[in-house]
Amino acid sequence: MTGFHELSLIPSLLEATAALGFDQPTPIQAAALPPLLAGRDLIAQAQTGSGKTAAFGLALLQRLQPARSEVQALVLCPTRELADQVCSDLRALARFMPNIKVLGLCGGISIRPQLASLEHPPQIAVGTPGRLQDLLRRGALDLSAVQMVVLDEADRMLDMGFVEDVRTILRQTPRERQTALFSATYPEDVRALSQAFQRDPQTVTVQAQQSEPDISQCLHPVNLADKPAALCRLLHHHAAERALIFCNTRQDVRDVTAHLNHEHLLALSLHGEMDQRERDETLVQFANGSCRLLVATDVAARGLDIEALPLVIAYELPAEPEVHVHRIGRTGRAGAAGKALALFTEREAGRIGKIEALTGQALPQQPLPGSGQGSGMQAPRWQTLVIDGGRKDKLRPGDLLGALTGVGELNAQQVGQIDIFPTRSYVALDRAVIRDAQKRLAGGRIKARRFRIRRL
Ligand code: AMP
Repeated sequence: MTGFHELSLIPSLLEATAALGFDQPTPIQAAALPPLLAGRDLIAQAQTGSGKTAAFGLALLQRLQPARSEVQALVLCPTRELADQVCSDLRALARFMPNIKVLGLCGGISIRPQLASLEHPPQIAVGTPGRLQDLLRRGALDLSAVQMVVLDEADRMLDMGFVEDVRTILRQTPRERQTALFSATYPEDVRALSQAFQRDPQTVTVQAQQSEPDISQCLHPVNLADKPAALCRLLHHHAAERALIFCNTRQDVRDVTAHLNHEHLLALSLHGEMDQRERDETLVQFANGSCRLLVATDVAARGLDIEALPLVIAYELPAEPEVHVHRIGRTGRAGAAGKALALFTEREAGRIGKIEALTGQALPQQPLPGSGQGSGMQAPRWQTLVIDGGRKDKLRPGDLLGALTGVGELNAQQVGQIDIFPTRSYVALDRAVIRDAQKRLAGGRIKARRFRIRRL
């Protein structure tokens, strides 16, 4: 196997890969980096988890001219979650390259700070097509110096109806740019996009590490009135570390969440009527272990970047079989085993045949497990503290950890995941100590400043 040093990366990038603990390039990196570094257009068929972000990230960072303050690389992503992830991965790779600005430009949040930030253009812009279009229309974003465009998860971007936006954006970049297209699948519309916007692309394909994910499925017949209790029983029976529960409608999401909380199974909702901040706070709590159960509509769960969920439960079967297949696909990722369960009433039974026809797989049906079986669902260990200050206030994880553990009453094991957003930070803390920690932080200072502190 080749190491990163054989790929002729500049020293600051080699240093970054070493600091990130990347010993060897992943197969997609080994295949995609040589043509990308040589300036060629590329079609890469690769899944999330393959290391594709670093594949294009290293190439675009190596080809940047750090001294020039203009957008030289543009990454288009289907969702804000993915764009945020790409931004943070790029910043991590660029940590030893001084003066690199990576700017996320996504919808769902106010455009004003983005307009202000664009007055000093970043070298790298990462965004969703809708917001990028908006910024272009306002004349706030200049793409005339772009040398490299990356279309990340191109198939999903087109699935979500962004094709015209993508085309319009690409037309505003120079013709002689380099264009890299990453996609898990390669359907006709992605092919058409490539033909219109790429020149003699090299194609690289990397098989998913595990072609057949290890997912065990089961359907449980229930009466409509018994569904809430049946859901609780399944959760206690399987006692999963985390579970995602799908409902067909927002109202069901609300009702199911309320029922679970009433039964002391701490759950949060995710649906399309939430604003971006509520959505962020929900996802942070699910990701950092403050809440083990997330109840979501399919649309809201789209684009969620949550890896390896051990359990997915469909509270009802959807009318379209494709939707169910997407639900199942949220578990058993990255080589880990997963369970996909569903509750269905007699009225929904007609949908089973459609799902089986689509997947070519028979779906096993079983009665619900008996009550009292299984080890029971544990309450989460963590709870989340919000600090109303973030990256813009130059807060870093170490500052928060220091402020929390500095006086000696809290040890580092009682502090969990720390997430820093532009204007807010979220810290997972052991539930046993969170009130004291909140009091102490609210009474003290972080980096010589006072911040408002809340508990979620
Ligand atoms: P991605 O497919 O870009 O979402 O990356 C999946 C994960 O793999 C990320 O958490 C990366 O930090 C990690 N990763 C990327 N490249 C490597 C590498 N060469 N060695 C180990 N981990 C990597």
